[in-house]
Amino acid sequence: MWGPMDLRDSPELAEFRSQLREWLSRNLSNEPEPKDMAARFAFARDWQKKLYAAGWYALSWPTETGGRGLGPIEEAIASEELGRAGAPATFPSSHLGRAILEFGSESQRRQYLPGLLSAEAIWCQGFSEPSAGSDLAAIRTTGVRKGNEFVLSGQKVWTSFGKFADYSIVLARTNPDATKHRGISAFIVEVATPGVLIRPIRLANGDEEFSEMFLDEVAIPEENLLGKLNEGWGIALATIAYERGAVDIGYKVKFERYFAELVAERNASSQAPDIWVDNAIGSVAVLLEVLRMHCLRRLSDRVISESPGPTSSIDKLFITRVEQELMEVATRCVAPPGSPTHQKWFDRYLYGRAGSIYGGSEQIQRSIIAERILHLRFS
Ligand SMILES: Cc1cc2nc3c(=O)[nH]c(=O)nc-3n(C[C@H](O)[C@H](O)[C@H](O)COP(=O)(O)OP(=O)(O)OC[C@H]3O[C@@H](n4cnc5c(N)ncnc54)[C@H](O)[C@@H]3O)c2cc1C
Repeated sequence: MWGPMDLRDSPELAEFRSQLREWLSRNLSNEPEPKDMAARFAFARDWQKKLYAAGWYALSWPTETGGRGLGPIEEAIASEELGRAGAPATFPSSHLGRAILEFGSESQRRQYLPGLLSAEAIWCQGFSEPSAGSDLAAIRTTGVRKGNEFVLSGQKVWTSFGKFADYSIVLARTNPDATKHRGISAFIVEVATPGVLIRPIRLANGDEEFSEMFLDEVAIPEENLLGKLNEGWGIALATIAYERGAVDIGYKVKFERYFAELVAERNASSQAPDIWVDNAIGSVAVLLEVLRMHCLRRLSDRVISESPGPTSSIDKLFITRVEQELMEVATRCVAPPGSPTHQKWFDRYLYGRAGSIYGGSEQIQRSIIAERILHLRFS
């Protein structure tokens, strides 16, 4: 039986919200996010550590993994409050944690998840290779069993935060005779293992956010196999679906913070009132509100089914649109070209373009929607 949905807080949730507001009022500093990549990384990490130590991060994760064992509604409230307060974004690795939670052994969960959630250990995703991006199943990195170890050899690329990482989830081909999507396994690789070489890739803006990761006969213990041997493709799909999905709070908090910044800067600017600008900013406000509602819906989906699946492609396209529109409007409306404020928004605008590629390109997301959600047939 359908009925009206009451989105107001229950007394318990209202109390939870006010506790978080109170904590934020005492613990959130006004310090701006640093420009330099290494400092920006340390800033995000420190903030996540602080949130986690106070019990305001990993709210819906099981307690034995370091979470608080609460539900998605508390997660959504935290997301709203962090966004409203203009809190810094957290570290984008919870999709890797979700993969360990879903596919890892009991001991892997206990060993790795508390560090990943608290940002004590930094994780990266060793999936893409020079000839395997959209066609990820074409990976050529090999994993060969030798006694009670696996020996990994190959090359990964576009590894975000690779130069800061302590661990990586690496996909490798463990059965060369099987068809492309079979015979792939997922491994937990400690980056300090002999034979792992991280070579940062310098971007046009000087940042070294990505790396190449070379694996030269890297011997890892067999207990670092994640999930079952030769069943890594399912793990890859689930991990990427978590990455694309609209439930984790980091990016949403970031967009809300940027939007608040845009509105404040527009109000403080000496530029003449302009109906076009007002309209454009209003459109972004609507998109952010739709994103907020969409996130709530996805959170309730999570109550029923843990893994997001192909609908996360819809989330990814929508999130990317919100980000790109926000950055475009800010770049065009807030400050004249040549000013530091304009440059700041322009840098964010350029970064926002990456949303059309990472986690699978827009074309790939649309194909997934066509084939796996709409069941369109191409012959
Ligand atoms: C900011 C950022 C962070 C990233 N972080 C990581 C990371 O941490 N770990 C990791 O493993 N990877 C990471 N990646 C890599 C990312 O997953 C790949 O770039 C992405 O999957 C696309 O692969 P590709 O670059 O090889 O492009 P290609 O696959 O070569 O695609 C090139 C173009 O062809 C189009 N195309 C390809 N195949 C098809 C098709 N079948 N149908 C229609 N169009 C098609 C694509 O849409 C794209 O426009 C990151 C990328 C970015 C931009």
